[in-house]
Amino acid sequence: MLVVMQRDATEDQIRRVAETIETLGYEARTMPGAQRTAVGVVGNDGRIDEARLSGLDGVREIIHVSQPFRQASREWKPEDTIVTLSNGLEIGGKDLTVMAGPCSVEGESEILEAAHAVREAGANVLRGGAFKPRTSPYSFQGMGEKGLVYLARAGEATGLPVVTEAVDPESVPAVAEHADIIQIGARNMQNYSLLRSVGHTQKPVLLKRGISATITELLLAAEYILSSGNPNVIVCERGIRGFDPSTRNILDLTAVPLIHERSHLPVIVDPSHGTGSRRYVPQMALAGIAAGADGIMIEVHQNPSEALSDGAQSLYVDQFHSLMNSVQKIRAAMDELETADATIATTR
Ligand code: PEP
Ligand code: MN
Repeated sequence: MLVVMQRDATEDQIRRVAETIETLGYEARTMPGAQRTAVGVVGNDGRIDEARLSGLDGVREIIHVSQPFRQASREWKPEDTIVTLSNGLEIGGKDLTVMAGPCSVEGESEILEAAHAVREAGANVLRGGAFKPRTSPYSFQGMGEKGLVYLARAGEATGLPVVTEAVDPESVPAVAEHADIIQIGARNMQNYSLLRSVGHTQKPVLLKRGISATITELLLAAEYILSSGNPNVIVCERGIRGFDPSTRNILDLTAVPLIHERSHLPVIVDPSHGTGSRRYVPQMALAGIAAGADGIMIEVHQNPSEALSDGAQSLYVDQFHSLMNSVQKIRAAMDELETADATIATTR
Protein backbone atom coordinates (compact mmCIF):
# COMPACT_ATOMS: atom_id res chain seq x y z
CA MET A 1 0.00 0.00 0.00
CA LEU A 2 1.23 3.45 -0.94
CA VAL A 3 0.08 6.63 0.78
CA VAL A 4 0.49 9.42 -1.78
CA MET A 5 0.82 12.88 -0.23
CA GLN A 6 -0.52 16.14 -1.66
CA ARG A 7 1.99 18.32 -3.53
CA ASP A 8 2.09 20.87 -0.73
CA ALA A 9 2.18 18.37 2.14
CA THR A 10 4.41 19.59 4.96
CA GLU A 11 7.25 17.66 6.53
CA ASP A 12 5.14 17.37 9.69
CA GLN A 13 2.21 15.84 7.78
CA ILE A 14 4.52 13.30 6.10
CA ARG A 15 6.06 12.42 9.46
CA ARG A 16 2.59 12.00 11.00
CA VAL A 17 1.67 9.50 8.25
CA ALA A 18 4.88 7.52 8.81
CA GLU A 19 4.29 7.48 12.59
CA THR A 20 0.70 6.29 12.14
CA ILE A 21 1.88 3.43 9.91
CA GLU A 22 4.39 2.44 12.58
CA THR A 23 1.79 2.70 15.35
CA LEU A 24 -0.31 0.24 13.36
CA GLY A 25 2.60 -2.21 13.47
CA TYR A 26 4.06 -1.79 9.97
CA GLU A 27 7.23 -0.32 8.58
CA ALA A 28 6.92 3.07 6.84
CA ARG A 29 9.16 3.91 3.89
CA THR A 30 9.14 7.55 2.82
CA MET A 31 9.82 8.10 -0.89
CA PRO A 32 10.24 11.76 -1.92
CA GLY A 33 9.37 12.37 -5.60
CA ALA A 34 9.76 15.31 -8.00
CA GLN A 35 6.07 16.24 -7.66
CA ARG A 36 5.02 14.70 -4.37
CA THR A 37 6.09 12.33 -1.64
CA ALA A 38 4.68 8.84 -1.16
CA VAL A 39 4.92 6.73 1.98
CA GLY A 40 5.01 2.97 1.44
CA VAL A 41 3.57 0.49 3.96
CA VAL A 42 5.89 -2.49 4.23
CA GLY A 43 4.60 -5.81 5.57
CA ASN A 44 0.93 -5.05 4.87
CA ASP A 45 -0.92 -8.27 5.68
CA GLY A 46 -4.26 -7.02 4.40
CA ARG A 47 -5.53 -6.11 7.87
CA ILE A 48 -4.62 -2.44 7.74
CA ASP A 49 -7.50 -0.03 8.28
CA GLU A 50 -7.16 2.34 5.34
CA ALA A 51 -9.37 4.98 6.97
CA ARG A 52 -6.69 5.57 9.65
CA LEU A 53 -4.42 6.87 6.87
CA SER A 54 -6.75 8.37 4.26
CA GLY A 55 -8.14 10.88 6.74
CA LEU A 56 -4.78 12.30 7.81
CA ASP A 57 -3.91 15.87 6.77
CA GLY A 58 -1.89 16.12 3.57
CA VAL A 59 -2.91 12.69 2.23
CA ARG A 60 -4.06 12.74 -1.42
CA GLU A 61 -4.83 9.08 -2.08
CA ILE A 62 -4.12 5.51 -1.10
CA ILE A 63 -2.88 3.16 -3.81
CA HIS A 64 -3.15 -0.59 -3.31
CA VAL A 65 -0.11 -2.38 -4.65
CA SER A 66 -1.41 -5.83 -3.77
CA GLN A 67 -5.01 -7.07 -3.52
CA PRO A 68 -6.91 -6.49 -0.26
CA PHE A 69 -8.18 -10.09 -0.34
CA ARG A 70 -5.62 -12.74 0.46
CA GLN A 71 -6.93 -16.32 0.42
CA ALA A 72 -9.10 -15.55 -2.60
CA SER A 73 -6.13 -14.23 -4.58
CA ARG A 74 -4.00 -15.91 -7.25
CA GLU A 75 -0.89 -14.95 -5.29
CA TRP A 76 -2.16 -17.04 -2.37
CA LYS A 77 -3.03 -20.02 -4.58
CA PRO A 78 -1.75 -19.93 -8.17
CA GLU A 79 -3.57 -23.08 -9.32
CA ASP A 80 -7.32 -23.08 -10.07
CA THR A 81 -9.65 -24.21 -7.28
CA ILE A 82 -11.73 -27.20 -8.29
CA VAL A 83 -14.89 -27.86 -6.29
CA THR A 84 -15.80 -31.52 -6.65
CA LEU A 85 -19.41 -32.58 -6.04
CA SER A 86 -20.73 -35.94 -4.89
CA ASN A 87 -21.49 -37.01 -8.48
CA GLY A 88 -17.86 -36.32 -9.47
CA LEU A 89 -18.63 -33.03 -11.24
CA GLU A 90 -15.54 -30.82 -11.12
CA ILE A 91 -16.60 -27.18 -10.96
CA GLY A 92 -13.65 -25.09 -12.11
CA GLY A 93 -11.98 -28.16 -13.61
CA LYS A 94 -12.34 -29.85 -16.95
CA ASP A 95 -16.14 -30.07 -16.77
CA LEU A 96 -18.50 -27.35 -17.91
CA THR A 97 -21.04 -26.82 -15.15
CA VAL A 98 -24.63 -26.21 -16.19
CA MET A 99 -26.97 -25.38 -13.30
CA ALA A 100 -30.55 -25.27 -14.47
CA GLY A 101 -34.09 -25.37 -13.13
CA PRO A 102 -36.85 -23.06 -12.03
CA CYS A 103 -36.29 -19.88 -10.05
CA SER A 104 -38.41 -21.33 -7.22
CA VAL A 105 -39.41 -24.81 -6.14
CA GLU A 106 -43.18 -24.68 -6.70
CA GLY A 107 -44.27 -28.20 -5.69
CA GLU A 108 -43.02 -31.78 -5.50
CA SER A 109 -44.18 -32.95 -8.93
CA GLU A 110 -43.19 -29.62 -10.56
CA ILE A 111 -39.58 -29.78 -9.41
CA LEU A 112 -39.31 -33.47 -10.23
CA GLU A 113 -40.56 -32.84 -13.76
CA ALA A 114 -38.17 -29.90 -14.12
CA ALA A 115 -35.27 -32.05 -12.90
CA HIS A 116 -35.93 -34.71 -15.53
CA ALA A 117 -36.31 -32.09 -18.24
CA VAL A 118 -33.06 -30.25 -17.52
CA ARG A 119 -31.09 -33.45 -17.01
CA GLU A 120 -32.29 -34.79 -20.33
CA ALA A 121 -31.12 -31.60 -22.02
CA GLY A 122 -27.66 -31.95 -20.44
CA ALA A 123 -27.66 -29.95 -17.19
CA ASN A 124 -25.46 -31.38 -14.47
CA VAL A 125 -26.78 -29.43 -11.43
CA LEU A 126 -30.44 -28.75 -10.52
CA ARG A 127 -31.38 -25.32 -9.19
CA GLY A 128 -34.52 -24.19 -7.38
CA GLY A 129 -35.09 -21.66 -4.60
CA ALA A 130 -36.92 -22.75 -1.45
CA PHE A 131 -36.18 -19.59 0.56
CA LYS A 132 -36.71 -16.66 -1.80
CA PRO A 133 -35.29 -13.20 -1.05
CA ARG A 134 -37.92 -11.14 -2.96
CA THR A 135 -37.71 -7.42 -3.60
CA SER A 136 -41.33 -7.07 -2.43
CA PRO A 137 -42.60 -8.61 0.83
CA TYR A 138 -45.88 -9.34 -1.00
CA SER A 139 -44.24 -11.57 -3.66
CA PHE A 140 -44.05 -15.35 -3.30
CA GLN A 141 -41.46 -16.04 -0.59
CA GLY A 142 -40.73 -19.68 -1.45
CA MET A 143 -41.90 -22.99 0.02
CA GLY A 144 -39.29 -22.98 2.80
CA GLU A 145 -38.20 -26.32 4.31
CA LYS A 146 -40.83 -28.26 2.37
CA GLY A 147 -39.29 -26.90 -0.81
CA LEU A 148 -35.85 -28.06 0.31
CA VAL A 149 -37.15 -31.60 0.79
CA TYR A 150 -38.84 -31.64 -2.64
CA LEU A 151 -35.68 -30.29 -4.27
CA ALA A 152 -33.49 -32.89 -2.58
CA ARG A 153 -35.88 -35.67 -3.63
CA ALA A 154 -35.84 -34.46 -7.25
CA GLY A 155 -32.06 -34.38 -7.11
CA GLU A 156 -31.89 -37.93 -5.78
CA ALA A 157 -34.39 -39.21 -8.36
CA THR A 158 -32.38 -37.78 -11.24
CA GLY A 159 -28.86 -38.10 -9.82
CA LEU A 160 -28.39 -34.33 -10.06
CA PRO A 161 -26.66 -32.41 -7.26
CA VAL A 162 -28.78 -29.45 -6.13
CA VAL A 163 -28.11 -25.78 -5.45
CA THR A 164 -30.45 -23.60 -3.39
CA GLU A 165 -30.26 -20.39 -1.44
CA ALA A 166 -29.82 -19.76 2.28
CA VAL A 167 -31.14 -16.32 3.18
CA ASP A 168 -30.01 -16.02 6.79
CA PRO A 169 -27.74 -17.84 9.26
CA GLU A 170 -30.80 -19.64 10.70
CA SER A 171 -31.57 -21.33 7.37
CA VAL A 172 -27.99 -22.54 6.81
CA PRO A 173 -28.21 -25.88 8.71
CA ALA A 174 -31.35 -26.98 6.83
CA VAL A 175 -29.97 -25.88 3.45
CA ALA A 176 -26.62 -27.57 4.20
CA GLU A 177 -28.47 -30.77 5.07
CA HIS A 178 -30.50 -30.94 1.85
CA ALA A 179 -28.34 -29.21 -0.75
CA ASP A 180 -25.04 -30.00 -2.44
CA ILE A 181 -24.28 -26.30 -2.96
CA ILE A 182 -25.46 -23.43 -0.76
CA GLN A 183 -26.30 -20.32 -2.76
CA ILE A 184 -25.74 -16.86 -1.32
CA GLY A 185 -27.91 -14.47 -3.30
CA ALA A 186 -26.97 -11.07 -4.68
CA ARG A 187 -28.95 -9.27 -1.98
CA ASN A 188 -26.97 -11.06 0.71
CA MET A 189 -23.46 -10.84 -0.74
CA GLN A 190 -22.38 -8.52 2.03
CA ASN A 191 -24.34 -10.19 4.84
CA TYR A 192 -21.22 -10.97 6.80
CA SER A 193 -22.82 -13.11 9.52
CA LEU A 194 -24.37 -15.26 6.77
CA LEU A 195 -21.02 -15.51 4.96
CA ARG A 196 -19.32 -16.58 8.20
CA SER A 197 -22.04 -19.07 8.89
CA VAL A 198 -21.62 -20.83 5.49
CA GLY A 199 -17.87 -20.50 6.02
CA HIS A 200 -18.22 -22.71 9.08
CA THR A 201 -19.60 -25.55 6.94
CA GLN A 202 -17.57 -27.46 4.36
CA LYS A 203 -20.39 -27.34 1.78
CA PRO A 204 -19.63 -25.76 -1.58
CA VAL A 205 -20.95 -22.19 -1.70
CA LEU A 206 -22.17 -20.34 -4.80
CA LEU A 207 -21.61 -16.68 -4.00
CA LYS A 208 -23.52 -14.33 -6.29
CA ARG A 209 -22.27 -10.83 -7.01
CA GLY A 210 -24.26 -8.05 -5.33
CA ILE A 211 -26.16 -5.71 -7.65
CA SER A 212 -23.78 -2.85 -7.00
CA ALA A 213 -20.72 -4.74 -5.83
CA THR A 214 -17.28 -4.22 -7.32
CA ILE A 215 -15.16 -7.24 -8.17
CA THR A 216 -12.98 -6.44 -5.15
CA GLU A 217 -16.04 -6.43 -2.88
CA LEU A 218 -17.16 -9.76 -4.36
CA LEU A 219 -13.77 -11.30 -3.71
CA LEU A 220 -13.67 -9.80 -0.21
CA ALA A 221 -17.05 -11.46 0.43
CA ALA A 222 -15.50 -14.73 -0.78
CA GLU A 223 -12.63 -14.03 1.61
CA TYR A 224 -15.10 -14.08 4.54
CA ILE A 225 -16.09 -17.64 3.62
CA LEU A 226 -12.54 -18.81 2.91
CA SER A 227 -11.11 -17.28 6.07
CA SER A 228 -13.87 -18.92 8.13
CA GLY A 229 -12.52 -22.29 7.05
CA ASN A 230 -14.50 -23.27 3.94
CA PRO A 231 -12.31 -23.51 0.80
CA ASN A 232 -15.19 -24.55 -1.50
CA VAL A 233 -16.25 -21.22 -2.93
CA ILE A 234 -17.63 -20.59 -6.43
CA VAL A 235 -18.40 -17.03 -7.50
CA CYS A 236 -21.20 -15.99 -9.83
CA GLU A 237 -21.55 -13.00 -12.15
CA ARG A 238 -25.29 -12.29 -12.32
CA GLY A 239 -25.41 -8.75 -13.60
CA ILE A 240 -25.10 -5.40 -11.89
CA ARG A 241 -27.46 -2.45 -11.64
CA GLY A 242 -27.15 -0.08 -14.60
CA PHE A 243 -28.96 3.04 -15.77
CA ASP A 244 -30.76 1.53 -18.77
CA PRO A 245 -34.12 -0.11 -18.03
CA SER A 246 -33.93 -2.08 -21.34
CA THR A 247 -32.55 -5.01 -19.37
CA ARG A 248 -33.04 -6.02 -15.73
CA ASN A 249 -29.30 -5.81 -15.06
CA ILE A 250 -26.07 -5.38 -17.00
CA LEU A 251 -24.28 -8.69 -17.33
CA ASP A 252 -20.64 -7.82 -16.75
CA LEU A 253 -18.77 -10.41 -18.77
CA THR A 254 -15.41 -8.72 -18.27
CA ALA A 255 -15.79 -10.00 -14.72
CA VAL A 256 -14.99 -13.52 -15.96
CA PRO A 257 -11.41 -13.00 -17.25
CA LEU A 258 -10.85 -10.39 -14.55
CA ILE A 259 -11.77 -12.73 -11.70
CA HIS A 260 -9.78 -15.57 -13.30
CA GLU A 261 -6.77 -13.27 -13.38
CA ARG A 262 -7.08 -12.11 -9.77
CA SER A 263 -8.47 -15.23 -8.15
CA HIS A 264 -8.24 -19.03 -8.30
CA LEU A 265 -11.99 -19.46 -7.63
CA PRO A 266 -14.35 -20.93 -10.27
CA VAL A 267 -16.68 -18.47 -12.01
CA ILE A 268 -20.28 -19.15 -13.08
CA VAL A 269 -22.28 -16.79 -15.30
CA ASP A 270 -26.03 -16.32 -14.73
CA PRO A 271 -27.53 -14.70 -17.84
CA SER A 272 -31.10 -15.21 -16.54
CA HIS A 273 -30.83 -12.60 -13.78
CA GLY A 274 -28.17 -10.80 -15.85
CA THR A 275 -30.65 -9.90 -18.59
CA GLY A 276 -34.09 -10.48 -17.04
CA SER A 277 -35.53 -11.58 -20.38
CA ARG A 278 -35.51 -15.03 -22.00
CA ARG A 279 -34.98 -13.35 -25.39
CA TYR A 280 -31.36 -12.58 -24.49
CA VAL A 281 -30.48 -15.49 -22.23
CA PRO A 282 -29.11 -17.90 -24.90
CA GLN A 283 -26.77 -15.35 -26.50
CA MET A 284 -25.39 -14.21 -23.16
CA ALA A 285 -25.01 -17.79 -21.90
CA LEU A 286 -22.85 -18.60 -24.94
CA ALA A 287 -20.94 -15.34 -24.53
CA GLY A 288 -20.26 -16.26 -20.90
CA ILE A 289 -18.75 -19.57 -21.93
CA ALA A 290 -16.72 -17.86 -24.66
CA ALA A 291 -15.46 -15.44 -22.01
CA GLY A 292 -14.06 -18.45 -20.15
CA ALA A 293 -16.70 -19.11 -17.48
CA ASP A 294 -16.50 -22.45 -15.69
CA GLY A 295 -20.24 -22.81 -16.05
CA ILE A 296 -23.62 -21.18 -16.42
CA MET A 297 -26.78 -20.97 -14.34
CA ILE A 298 -30.02 -20.90 -16.33
CA GLU A 299 -33.62 -20.55 -15.14
CA VAL A 300 -35.88 -23.02 -16.95
CA HIS A 301 -39.61 -23.56 -16.42
CA GLN A 302 -42.15 -25.96 -17.98
CA ASN A 303 -44.65 -23.12 -18.18
CA PRO A 304 -42.92 -19.76 -17.67
CA SER A 305 -46.11 -17.71 -17.91
CA GLU A 306 -47.36 -19.46 -14.76
CA ALA A 307 -44.06 -19.32 -12.85
CA LEU A 308 -44.31 -18.00 -9.29
CA SER A 309 -41.09 -16.01 -9.78
CA ASP A 310 -38.89 -14.85 -12.66
CA GLY A 311 -41.09 -16.28 -15.43
CA ALA A 312 -40.04 -13.62 -17.95
CA GLN A 313 -36.41 -14.71 -17.80
CA SER A 314 -37.07 -18.46 -17.62
CA LEU A 315 -36.41 -20.48 -20.77
CA TYR A 316 -38.99 -22.93 -22.10
CA VAL A 317 -37.72 -26.50 -21.91
CA ASP A 318 -37.28 -26.77 -25.69
CA GLN A 319 -35.32 -23.51 -25.74
CA PHE A 320 -33.04 -24.91 -23.07
CA HIS A 321 -32.52 -28.02 -25.20
CA SER A 322 -31.40 -26.02 -28.18
CA LEU A 323 -29.25 -23.77 -26.00
CA MET A 324 -27.47 -26.90 -24.72
CA ASN A 325 -26.70 -27.93 -28.31
CA SER A 326 -25.06 -24.57 -28.95
CA VAL A 327 -23.29 -24.74 -25.57
CA GLN A 328 -21.58 -27.99 -26.62
CA LYS A 329 -20.43 -26.37 -29.87
CA ILE A 330 -19.02 -23.26 -28.17
CA ARG A 331 -17.30 -25.42 -25.57
CA ALA A 332 -15.75 -27.60 -28.28
CA ALA A 333 -14.58 -24.47 -30.12
CA MET A 334 -13.04 -23.17 -26.89
CA ASP A 335 -11.22 -26.47 -26.34
CA GLU A 336 -9.92 -26.30 -29.92
CA LEU A 337 -8.73 -22.73 -29.36
CA GLU A 338 -6.91 -23.78 -26.21
CA THR A 339 -5.16 -26.60 -28.07
CA ALA A 340 -4.22 -24.19 -30.87
CA ASP A 341 -2.91 -21.64 -28.33
CA ALA A 342 -0.85 -24.34 -26.63
CA THR A 343 0.61 -25.39 -30.00
CA ILE A 344 1.50 -21.80 -30.86
CA ALA A 345 3.06 -21.33 -27.43
CA THR A 346 5.27 -24.42 -27.80
CA THR A 347 6.32 -23.73 -31.43
CA ARG A 348 7.03 -20.01 -31.05
C1 PEP B 1 -31.94 -16.64 -7.90
O1 PEP B 1 -30.94 -17.29 -8.23
O2 PEP B 1 -33.10 -17.00 -8.10
C2 PEP B 1 -31.74 -15.30 -7.30
C3 PEP B 1 -32.60 -14.78 -6.45
O3 PEP B 1 -30.61 -14.72 -7.74
P1 PEP B 1 -29.92 -13.31 -7.34
O4 PEP B 1 -29.58 -13.42 -5.91
O5 PEP B 1 -28.73 -13.25 -8.25
O6 PEP B 1 -30.93 -12.22 -7.63
MN1 MN C 1 -34.66 -16.11 -9.96
